[in-house]
Amino acid sequence: MSTPSTAWHERAAGLRLDGRAVINGQRVAAVDGQTFAKHSPIDSRFLTQVARGQAADVDAAVMAARAAFDDRRWAGKAPAVRKKILQRFADKILAAKEELALLETLDMGKPIQYSLSVDVPAAARCIAWYAEAVDKVYDEIAPTPDTALALITREPMGVIGAIVPWNYPMIMAAWKLGPALAAGNSVVLKPSEKSPLTACRLAELAVEAGIPPGVFNVVPGFGHEAGEALALHLQVDAIGFTGSTRVGRRMLDYAGRSNLKRVYNELGGKSAFVVFEDYADLPRAARTLAGSMFFNQGESCNAPSRVLVQASVAEEFTALLAAEAPKYAPGDPLHPATELGALVDETQLRTVMGYIESGLSEGARCLTGGRQARTETGGFYVEPTVFAAATPQMRITREEIFGPVTAVIAFETEAQAIALANDSSYGLQASVWSDQLNRAHRVARALRAGTVHVNQYDEDDITVPFGGYKQSGNGRDKSLHAFDKYTELKTTWIRL
Ligand code: NAD
Repeated sequence: MSTPSTAWHERAAGLRLDGRAVINGQRVAAVDGQTFAKHSPIDSRFLTQVARGQAADVDAAVMAARAAFDDRRWAGKAPAVRKKILQRFADKILAAKEELALLETLDMGKPIQYSLSVDVPAAARCIAWYAEAVDKVYDEIAPTPDTALALITREPMGVIGAIVPWNYPMIMAAWKLGPALAAGNSVVLKPSEKSPLTACRLAELAVEAGIPPGVFNVVPGFGHEAGEALALHLQVDAIGFTGSTRVGRRMLDYAGRSNLKRVYNELGGKSAFVVFEDYADLPRAARTLAGSMFFNQGESCNAPSRVLVQASVAEEFTALLAAEAPKYAPGDPLHPATELGALVDETQLRTVMGYIESGLSEGARCLTGGRQARTETGGFYVEPTVFAAATPQMRITREEIFGPVTAVIAFETEAQAIALANDSSYGLQASVWSDQLNRAHRVARALRAGTVHVNQYDEDDITVPFGGYKQSGNGRDKSLHAFDKYTELKTTWIRL
């Protein structure tokens, strides 16, 4: 079957694809010329060669960032000037919206409508929001005796290594860049080898906006090469990492083996979606669940992949959910109406299909989906999948799948629901659905997660912190709290 051509296919054919690093404001090949081939998950088509950064490339980028920090070419600018430049950066991202959205879709397979309406605007808004904060966050004076004055000031930390995943390449980069740059740091960004192209383009736009060379550098490459070199580098003061819990452990190890740099981990999740029988609008809950679960092909850290439903309504709710799921039929990501795109690569496809097989073999009931889709296009597609009759011991309810697969477990009492929801090594996000005000508050308070939603799941804003309890991480992205990650607090005592 050939895919019908859309305007986006035509634009894609003429798109400039450049996978070189950006170091000290310049596009550069890797020092030893190494590259790797990047293919599109949409149809496995070759996109471009990408610089395969090694320790030497990382060293060049870190030293450029160090020099930029030490001569204060960025931190030393008046806050109002830094603000203006960052605002220009955000404007340039918006002005390049179609190009960036197309790059993001080609690179990681998400539907073009969401790259356009979610990813690019969210990345721009993040930079613009932190730009606004630059000249509005004040330092403190401590309440000391008359004999002395104590100033408590925030100072930029220095060189920040940002290592990000492939599922929201631009947004994850922006969540690091916004607060780190606004606070006056320099940044070396290592995008995922699975989706490096928009990060490289962002660095070019930053230079065009007037961010001085060396302040924001991008070194593409693999985790065990460029990522490891960055996390071990002695001139990196902090690592802002988003990715798997497995690699997050390594970040702590790298810091211990090098210079005890700060490590901020934003890691995986297995978010519980808890539905009580007293919630009247079950169709709305099912719609919201499907929308959040299948958004981004289920490749979201906060996907509601553990559904806990009170036994008296479990059958009704599961049927509603199973009826919603097929509305997210996998389609061509370049088609403007597609809701569910391609998984990022064949490895991810195999992982997701492996979980589906494990759910079946462990005795869960697959109500809808469960198969690969669009096999004729050469890309990596899986049907939206709903399991019923799952148990808390199954791999599909314990492990992060990172694909369009969710599983329903029935519970009897409120206490059981709380215990089940908290029975996870993760604690990123959760939601409680109940029309009883006191129950909703009680359960929300008892859930061990960084974000808890009540009777909704999809609200999100740059103004609120995002991060996890337990093995979902130790930091918070977004909001003014993110400044804590990229600033040092200094106390200066002055004798009066
Ligand atoms: P990953 O951990 O495999 O990779 C993340 C980044 O780390 C990539 O840039 C990768 O190249 C790099 N990396 C891999 N191995 C490395 C190593 N040995 N040393 C240094 N760097 C290394 O994760 P992924 O598959 O890209 O992303 C999916 C994960 O990210 C999921 O677990 C998801 O939940 C998580 N995630 C979390 C959040 C959050 O805010 N908490 C947001 C998005 C994604």
